[in-house]
Amino acid sequence: MTSEPRGGRGRLAIVGLGPGAVGTCTPDVRTLLVAATDWVGYGTYLDLAAAIVEPTRAQSLHRSNNRVEADRARFALDLAADGHDVALVSSGDPGVFAMAAAIMEQLDTDPDPHRWAAAEVSIHPGISAAQAAAARAGAPLGHDFCVISLSDNLKPFSIIERRLDAAAGADFVIALYNPRSRHRPDQLDRALAVLGRHRAPATPVVLGRDVGRPDEQVRVVTLDDLANQRLQAEVDMRTVVIVGSSQTRTVDVPGDDRGVWVYTPRSYPD
Ligand code: SAH
Repeated sequence: MTSEPRGGRGRLAIVGLGPGAVGTCTPDVRTLLVAATDWVGYGTYLDLAAAIVEPTRAQSLHRSNNRVEADRARFALDLAADGHDVALVSSGDPGVFAMAAAIMEQLDTDPDPHRWAAAEVSIHPGISAAQAAAARAGAPLGHDFCVISLSDNLKPFSIIERRLDAAAGADFVIALYNPRSRHRPDQLDRALAVLGRHRAPATPVVLGRDVGRPDEQVRVVTLDDLANQRLQAEVDMRTVVIVGSSQTRTVDVPGDDRGVWVYTPRSYPD
Protein backbone atom coordinates (compact mmCIF):
# COMPACT_ATOMS: atom_id res chain seq x y z
CA MET A 1 0.00 0.00 0.00
CA THR A 2 1.67 3.24 -1.14
CA SER A 3 0.42 6.73 -1.89
CA GLU A 4 1.55 10.15 -3.09
CA PRO A 5 0.92 13.22 -0.93
CA ARG A 6 -1.82 15.43 -2.38
CA GLY A 7 -1.54 18.30 0.10
CA GLY A 8 -4.36 20.14 1.87
CA ARG A 9 -6.78 18.78 4.43
CA GLY A 10 -8.06 15.31 3.63
CA ARG A 11 -11.10 13.35 4.74
CA LEU A 12 -11.40 9.94 6.28
CA ALA A 13 -14.94 8.60 6.03
CA ILE A 14 -15.32 5.32 7.93
CA VAL A 15 -18.23 3.70 6.14
CA GLY A 16 -20.43 0.64 6.71
CA LEU A 17 -21.80 -1.05 3.60
CA GLY A 18 -24.57 -2.92 5.37
CA PRO A 19 -24.85 -6.66 4.81
CA GLY A 20 -24.15 -6.55 1.07
CA ALA A 21 -27.09 -5.66 -1.13
CA VAL A 22 -27.18 -2.30 -2.91
CA GLY A 23 -30.56 -1.47 -1.40
CA THR A 24 -29.39 -1.83 2.19
CA CYS A 25 -26.36 0.45 1.79
CA THR A 26 -27.33 3.97 2.86
CA PRO A 27 -27.37 6.77 0.24
CA ASP A 28 -24.90 8.61 2.52
CA VAL A 29 -22.35 5.80 2.20
CA ARG A 30 -22.92 5.43 -1.55
CA THR A 31 -22.27 9.16 -2.00
CA LEU A 32 -19.04 8.93 0.00
CA LEU A 33 -17.85 5.94 -2.04
CA VAL A 34 -18.44 7.90 -5.24
CA ALA A 35 -16.64 11.00 -3.91
CA ALA A 36 -13.59 9.25 -2.41
CA THR A 37 -10.23 9.38 -4.17
CA ASP A 38 -9.14 6.25 -2.30
CA TRP A 39 -10.89 3.18 -0.93
CA VAL A 40 -9.17 1.26 1.83
CA GLY A 41 -10.34 -2.06 3.24
CA TYR A 42 -10.11 -5.77 3.44
CA GLY A 43 -10.21 -7.17 -0.12
CA THR A 44 -13.57 -8.90 0.35
CA TYR A 45 -15.16 -5.67 1.53
CA LEU A 46 -13.78 -3.66 -1.39
CA ASP A 47 -15.29 -6.26 -3.74
CA LEU A 48 -18.60 -5.81 -1.93
CA ALA A 49 -18.28 -2.02 -2.23
CA ALA A 50 -17.46 -2.32 -5.95
CA ALA A 51 -20.68 -4.28 -6.47
CA ILE A 52 -22.60 -1.40 -4.87
CA VAL A 53 -20.78 1.54 -6.52
CA GLU A 54 -18.57 0.82 -9.52
CA PRO A 55 -15.18 2.45 -8.85
CA THR A 56 -13.78 4.73 -11.58
CA ARG A 57 -10.27 4.47 -12.99
CA ALA A 58 -9.36 7.66 -11.14
CA GLN A 59 -10.04 6.02 -7.78
CA SER A 60 -7.29 4.05 -6.03
CA LEU A 61 -8.32 0.82 -4.33
CA HIS A 62 -6.02 -0.25 -1.49
CA ARG A 63 -6.82 -3.86 -0.71
CA SER A 64 -5.37 -4.67 2.62
CA ASN A 65 -5.24 -8.37 3.16
CA ASN A 66 -3.24 -7.68 6.25
CA ARG A 67 -5.18 -8.95 9.26
CA VAL A 68 -3.60 -6.33 11.50
CA GLU A 69 -6.32 -3.71 11.81
CA ALA A 70 -4.01 -1.17 13.42
CA ASP A 71 -1.83 -1.05 10.28
CA ARG A 72 -4.88 -0.54 8.05
CA ALA A 73 -6.14 2.19 10.37
CA ARG A 74 -2.80 4.05 10.34
CA PHE A 75 -2.52 3.72 6.58
CA ALA A 76 -5.99 5.23 6.09
CA LEU A 77 -5.26 8.06 8.53
CA ASP A 78 -1.92 8.82 6.84
CA LEU A 79 -3.60 8.94 3.42
CA ALA A 80 -6.25 11.37 4.69
CA ALA A 81 -3.63 13.51 6.46
CA ASP A 82 -1.80 13.68 3.10
CA GLY A 83 -4.87 15.30 1.55
CA HIS A 84 -6.65 12.26 0.11
CA ASP A 85 -10.40 11.76 0.34
CA VAL A 86 -10.50 8.28 1.86
CA ALA A 87 -13.37 5.82 2.34
CA LEU A 88 -12.39 3.16 4.86
CA VAL A 89 -14.74 0.30 4.16
CA SER A 90 -16.31 -2.18 6.61
CA SER A 91 -19.23 -4.52 6.08
CA GLY A 92 -22.34 -4.02 8.17
CA ASP A 93 -21.81 -1.22 10.65
CA PRO A 94 -18.28 0.19 10.98
CA GLY A 95 -18.73 0.60 14.73
CA VAL A 96 -19.62 -3.07 15.35
CA PHE A 97 -16.51 -5.27 15.52
CA ALA A 98 -14.96 -3.15 12.78
CA MET A 99 -12.75 -0.23 11.79
CA ALA A 100 -14.27 2.75 13.62
CA ALA A 101 -12.89 1.60 16.98
CA ALA A 102 -9.52 0.78 15.39
CA ILE A 103 -9.29 4.38 14.11
CA MET A 104 -10.32 5.83 17.49
CA GLU A 105 -7.68 3.69 19.16
CA GLN A 106 -4.95 5.07 16.90
CA LEU A 107 -6.10 8.65 17.48
CA ASP A 108 -6.10 7.96 21.20
CA THR A 109 -2.75 6.22 21.52
CA ASP A 110 -0.35 7.69 18.95
CA PRO A 111 2.51 9.44 20.79
CA ASP A 112 2.12 12.46 18.46
CA PRO A 113 -1.33 13.94 19.10
CA HIS A 114 -0.97 16.20 16.01
CA ARG A 115 0.04 13.45 13.63
CA TRP A 116 -3.35 13.25 11.90
CA ALA A 117 -4.58 16.78 12.65
CA ALA A 118 -4.97 17.38 8.90
CA ALA A 119 -7.47 14.51 8.54
CA GLU A 120 -11.17 15.16 9.01
CA VAL A 121 -12.64 11.94 10.40
CA SER A 122 -16.32 10.96 10.17
CA ILE A 123 -18.24 7.73 10.77
CA HIS A 124 -21.17 6.53 8.68
CA PRO A 125 -23.36 3.72 10.03
CA GLY A 126 -24.66 0.68 8.23
CA ILE A 127 -27.10 -2.13 8.93
CA SER A 128 -25.29 -4.70 11.06
CA ALA A 129 -25.44 -8.44 10.34
CA ALA A 130 -27.63 -9.22 13.35
CA GLN A 131 -30.22 -6.66 12.25
CA ALA A 132 -30.20 -7.93 8.67
CA ALA A 133 -30.58 -11.58 9.72
CA ALA A 134 -33.23 -10.71 12.30
CA ALA A 135 -35.34 -8.95 9.68
CA ARG A 136 -35.27 -12.02 7.44
CA ALA A 137 -36.34 -14.30 10.29
CA GLY A 138 -39.00 -12.09 11.90
CA ALA A 139 -38.25 -10.07 15.03
CA PRO A 140 -35.95 -12.07 17.31
CA LEU A 141 -34.37 -8.83 18.61
CA GLY A 142 -37.74 -7.43 19.69
CA HIS A 143 -36.70 -7.29 23.35
CA ASP A 144 -33.34 -6.80 25.12
CA PHE A 145 -30.44 -8.36 23.26
CA CYS A 146 -26.68 -8.28 23.09
CA VAL A 147 -24.00 -9.08 20.54
CA ILE A 148 -20.93 -11.15 21.36
CA SER A 149 -18.05 -12.00 19.05
CA LEU A 150 -16.72 -15.52 19.47
CA SER A 151 -13.39 -14.55 17.93
CA ASP A 152 -10.57 -14.98 20.39
CA ASN A 153 -8.12 -13.03 18.19
CA LEU A 154 -8.56 -9.93 20.31
CA LYS A 155 -9.74 -11.34 23.65
CA PRO A 156 -9.19 -14.59 25.56
CA PHE A 157 -11.84 -17.30 25.24
CA SER A 158 -12.28 -17.35 29.03
CA ILE A 159 -13.72 -13.79 28.76
CA ILE A 160 -16.04 -14.92 25.98
CA GLU A 161 -17.32 -17.78 28.14
CA ARG A 162 -17.84 -15.45 31.09
CA ARG A 163 -19.83 -13.00 28.95
CA LEU A 164 -21.92 -15.75 27.39
CA ASP A 165 -22.70 -17.09 30.84
CA ALA A 166 -23.67 -13.64 32.17
CA ALA A 167 -25.74 -12.69 29.11
CA ALA A 168 -27.55 -16.03 28.96
CA GLY A 169 -28.07 -15.91 32.76
CA ALA A 170 -29.67 -12.45 32.39
CA ASP A 171 -31.93 -13.87 29.64
CA PHE A 172 -30.76 -11.67 26.77
CA VAL A 173 -31.27 -12.74 23.18
CA ILE A 174 -27.67 -13.21 22.03
CA ALA A 175 -26.34 -12.56 18.52
CA LEU A 176 -23.04 -14.35 17.95
CA TYR A 177 -20.63 -12.80 15.44
CA ASN A 178 -17.52 -14.61 14.13
CA PRO A 179 -19.15 -17.83 15.36
CA ARG A 180 -16.89 -20.51 13.95
CA SER A 181 -13.67 -20.33 11.95
CA ARG A 182 -11.65 -22.98 10.19
CA HIS A 183 -8.80 -22.36 12.61
CA ARG A 184 -11.02 -22.65 15.67
CA PRO A 185 -13.89 -24.96 14.70
CA ASP A 186 -14.79 -25.75 18.32
CA GLN A 187 -15.61 -22.15 19.36
CA LEU A 188 -19.30 -22.56 18.62
CA ASP A 189 -19.54 -25.88 20.42
CA ARG A 190 -17.94 -24.37 23.51
CA ALA A 191 -20.26 -21.39 23.38
CA LEU A 192 -23.31 -23.64 23.04
CA ALA A 193 -22.20 -25.62 26.10
CA VAL A 194 -22.34 -22.38 28.14
CA LEU A 195 -25.69 -21.29 26.68
CA GLY A 196 -27.15 -24.74 27.30
CA ARG A 197 -26.77 -24.17 31.07
CA HIS A 198 -29.40 -21.42 30.85
CA ARG A 199 -31.64 -22.20 27.87
CA ALA A 200 -34.16 -24.91 27.07
CA PRO A 201 -33.28 -27.27 24.21
CA ALA A 202 -36.27 -25.97 22.19
CA THR A 203 -34.98 -22.35 22.21
CA PRO A 204 -35.22 -20.95 18.66
CA VAL A 205 -31.93 -20.17 16.94
CA VAL A 206 -31.55 -18.21 13.68
CA LEU A 207 -28.64 -19.08 11.40
CA GLY A 208 -28.16 -16.27 8.87
CA ARG A 209 -25.45 -16.91 6.30
CA ASP A 210 -24.40 -14.38 3.64
CA VAL A 211 -27.46 -12.32 4.48
CA GLY A 212 -28.23 -9.77 1.77
CA ARG A 213 -25.82 -11.43 -0.67
CA PRO A 214 -26.54 -13.75 -3.59
CA ASP A 215 -25.87 -16.94 -1.57
CA GLU A 216 -28.07 -15.92 1.34
CA GLN A 217 -29.36 -18.74 3.51
CA VAL A 218 -31.46 -18.15 6.61
CA ARG A 219 -32.59 -21.10 8.73
CA VAL A 220 -34.49 -21.41 11.96
CA VAL A 221 -33.40 -24.33 14.15
CA THR A 222 -33.38 -25.06 17.88
CA LEU A 223 -30.54 -25.04 20.37
CA ASP A 224 -30.91 -28.80 20.52
CA ASP A 225 -30.62 -29.15 16.71
CA LEU A 226 -27.40 -27.18 16.86
CA ALA A 227 -25.78 -29.82 19.07
CA ASN A 228 -25.55 -31.80 15.83
CA GLN A 229 -22.00 -31.47 14.50
CA ARG A 230 -23.18 -31.62 10.89
CA LEU A 231 -25.36 -28.57 11.42
CA GLN A 232 -22.57 -26.80 13.30
CA ALA A 233 -20.28 -27.44 10.34
CA GLU A 234 -22.60 -25.27 8.20
CA VAL A 235 -21.88 -22.31 10.48
CA ASP A 236 -18.86 -20.30 9.36
CA MET A 237 -17.39 -16.79 9.47
CA ARG A 238 -20.06 -15.59 7.02
CA THR A 239 -22.81 -16.59 9.43
CA VAL A 240 -24.45 -14.74 12.30
CA VAL A 241 -26.18 -16.89 14.92
CA ILE A 242 -29.06 -15.46 16.95
CA VAL A 243 -29.94 -17.49 20.03
CA GLY A 244 -33.33 -16.67 21.53
CA SER A 245 -34.14 -15.80 25.15
CA SER A 246 -36.54 -17.85 27.29
CA GLN A 247 -39.35 -15.80 25.69
CA THR A 248 -38.40 -16.12 22.01
CA ARG A 249 -41.07 -17.98 20.04
CA THR A 250 -41.79 -19.24 16.56
CA VAL A 251 -45.02 -18.63 14.70
CA ASP A 252 -46.21 -20.66 11.78
CA VAL A 253 -48.62 -18.53 9.76
CA PRO A 254 -51.14 -20.66 7.82
CA GLY A 255 -50.86 -20.15 4.07
CA ASP A 256 -47.32 -18.73 4.39
CA ASP A 257 -44.98 -21.34 2.98
CA ARG A 258 -41.77 -19.44 3.63
CA GLY A 259 -41.31 -21.27 6.95
CA VAL A 260 -41.77 -20.09 10.51
CA TRP A 261 -41.22 -16.58 11.83
CA VAL A 262 -39.21 -16.07 15.00
CA TYR A 263 -39.93 -13.26 17.42
CA THR A 264 -39.24 -12.09 20.94
CA PRO A 265 -42.30 -10.43 22.49
CA ARG A 266 -42.06 -6.75 23.45
CA SER A 267 -43.06 -7.38 27.07
CA TYR A 268 -41.42 -9.60 29.66
CA PRO A 269 -43.39 -11.49 32.35
CA ASP A 270 -43.17 -10.18 35.95
N1 SAH B 1 -19.20 -4.81 11.08
C1 SAH B 1 -19.90 -6.05 10.78
C2 SAH B 1 -19.42 -7.22 11.63
C3 SAH B 1 -17.98 -7.60 11.38
S1 SAH B 1 -17.51 -9.04 12.29
C4 SAH B 1 -21.41 -5.84 10.96
O1 SAH B 1 -21.81 -4.85 11.62
O2 SAH B 1 -22.20 -6.64 10.44
C5 SAH B 1 -17.74 -10.27 11.04
C6 SAH B 1 -18.90 -11.16 11.38
O3 SAH B 1 -20.12 -10.49 11.07
C7 SAH B 1 -18.97 -12.44 10.57
O4 SAH B 1 -18.15 -13.46 11.12
C8 SAH B 1 -20.44 -12.80 10.69
O5 SAH B 1 -20.70 -13.36 11.96
C9 SAH B 1 -21.09 -11.42 10.65
N2 SAH B 1 -21.55 -11.04 9.29
C10 SAH B 1 -21.10 -9.97 8.59
N3 SAH B 1 -21.78 -9.88 7.41
C11 SAH B 1 -22.67 -10.90 7.40
C12 SAH B 1 -23.67 -11.32 6.47
N4 SAH B 1 -23.89 -10.67 5.32
N5 SAH B 1 -24.41 -12.41 6.78
C13 SAH B 1 -24.22 -13.05 7.94
N6 SAH B 1 -23.29 -12.70 8.86
C14 SAH B 1 -22.53 -11.64 8.59
